[in-house]
Order: sequence, then C-alpha cells, then structure tokens
Amino acid sequence: MIKVIHHRKKCIGCNSCVAIAPQNWVMDAEEGKSRLIAAREKGGLFVGEIFECDREANEQAARACPMKIIKVNQA
Ligand code: SF4
Repeated sequence: MIKVIHHRKKCIGCNSCVAIAPQNWVMDAEEGKSRLIAAREKGGLFVGEIFECDREANEQAARACPMKIIKVNQA
C-alpha cells in the first residue's frame, strides 16, 4: 500500500485530483474541498492508503494540484 497525505485545510476545491483519480478522491460540495476516500485525520492532515496500481494517477493528481497539498509516499 502507498501512503497519501492531504493537507485538506488548504484545499481550494479545484477538482483536479477528483478528475484525475476518481477511484481515490471525491468532492465534498458542502465544504468545497476534496476528500481522500477512507483517509483519517492525523494532526490536521488527512492520511490514507491507496493500492500500488493507483500510484501513478495519484502522483499525477499531486502534480496537478495547484496548492501542492497532496503527497504520495511509500507506506
Ligand atoms: S487538486 Fe488540490 S486544491 Fe484541487 S481539489 Fe484536489 S487537493 Fe484540493
């Protein structure tokens, strides 16, 4: 599994991550911020795990994020 970290507080809800990796990201229309599916809050950051097969899409999402608040790491 690959660890993904989302600094959600800074999210501007541009939807890029959701468009690129909809298997892992959804938009919370009420809050106007994306959400990493099944992530848990840890010290103000949202931390989740994705499958290896979704790594490339999430790395693309991280590059596309205008706020640079998505980090994709080895778990
Ligand atoms: S790409 Fe970045 S700013 Fe845009 S919705 Fe996703 S996390 Fe938020």
